Amino acid sequence: MEKIKVIVAGPRGKMGSEALRMIEKQDDLELVACLDHQFNGMKISEIDNLPSFDALIYTDIQECFDSVKADVLVDLTTPEFGYLHTKTAIENGIRPVVGTTGFTDEQLQELTELSEEKGIGVIIAPNFALGAVLMMQFAKWAAKYFPDVEIIEKHHDNKLDAPSGTAVKTAQLISEVREAKKQGHPDEKETISGARGAEMEGMRIHSMRLPGLVAHQEVVFGSKGENLTIKHDSFHRESFMTGVKLAIDQVMKLDILVYGLENILE
Ligand code: NAP
Repeated sequence: MEKIKVIVAGPRGKMGSEALRMIEKQDDLELVACLDHQFNGMKISEIDNLPSFDALIYTDIQECFDSVKADVLVDLTTPEFGYLHTKTAIENGIRPVVGTTGFTDEQLQELTELSEEKGIGVIIAPNFALGAVLMMQFAKWAAKYFPDVEIIEKHHDNKLDAPSGTAVKTAQLISEVREAKKQGHPDEKETISGARGAEMEGMRIHSMRLPGLVAHQEVVFGSKGENLTIKHDSFHRESFMTGVKLAIDQVMKLDILVYGLENILE
């Protein structure tokens, strides 16, 4: 069996190191290199607390792609570098599986067009946890009947982007079935700026950042005399790895960009 050759960008990060541990347990995946912004030329096994892979770390993405033969780039870095890595991978014929969140709509559009032009499969998933994907689907279903909705997302305090990619994706899915409408009192005023959260098509999104949290979201629907809350918690980053593995397998069969894990589950 030919193994899928994988490069991981961000191997020392919370998600990246978990991805290395997942790859270590798979018979059909091979880690061929890592991309980082330091430790150029070192082996992964030489970095504290990482699995004992011989794969080398590269700080220059083009040098990395020229030096090793790879099928898939798994990116778990920052929005700025994740976007550059994804673009460069497509240009080099390497399929990106992107967990990094915080891309703009323009960047997503550009990557979609580039992937189509080059015929290279891409999966960008703001949430790789299967439970979170179901939470988003259930929220879309509920929004047909409950158009008044607020999203509360809670993450660890090292997260760079707000609102979370999952919250934005949830709001996008809801807006497919809900007519845009302003919620709350028509004359409401914030006495402290931001008190009502971010606004998307009249929906409110609230972002909480605290140490101790991993990734959590509640979608709260309100109607006369009743509330419905759909809630998902990721307590450990292992929860994302089933989705990362699934995306690596599926991206090998794609020649377009797919945004959202739900689109490869069916
Ligand atoms: P993290 O622990 O901060 O990890 C990010 C890693 O990327 C760090 O090791 C960082 O190194 C490294 N890095 C920074 N610039 C880089 C570059 N130019 N090249 C290579 N590596 C670089 O963050 P995390 O919690 O693992 O999250 C990573 C990303 O995944 C974030 O965008 C987060 O929102 C997203 N995320 C997605 C999911 C999902 O299911 N899709 C779930 C959780 C998180 P330094 O620390 O030295 O800067």
